[in-house]
Amino acid sequence: MDVAAMAERLREEERVISSRIERVSGEARDAGDDGVRDSGDAAVLSENTDDRLRGTEMDRGVLSQIRAALARIDAGTYGACVIDGEPIEEARLEAVPWTPYCLEHQEMQERATTL
Ligand SMILES: [Zn+2]
Repeated sequence: MDVAAMAERLREEERVISSRIERVSGEARDAGDDGVRDSGDAAVLSENTDDRLRGTEMDRGVLSQIRAALARIDAGTYGACVIDGEPIEEARLEAVPWTPYCLEHQEMQERATTL
């Protein structure tokens, strides 16, 4: 596995996601400050803003996983499952470079959060 290439991908994702979060939260602030629009516009606007803020919540989750992955690269533990230390399948890392779990523990986490 080419860890340097993975680090590059992770840093690129980090840039894209953090600028998106900044943009959306800036727009949400602006929308909230505007008292001039009539109530119909305001309702549509706040609905859109809510959707985008929900997207931002997901972005924040991914961003923290990306940063944790970059920290593991620095620590030399990247590519090992954080639970059992077993190597994470390379196909998984290709698909989701910030994943902290091997397939077995990913499934375990998903079961835990859907219960
Ligand atoms: Zn594992």
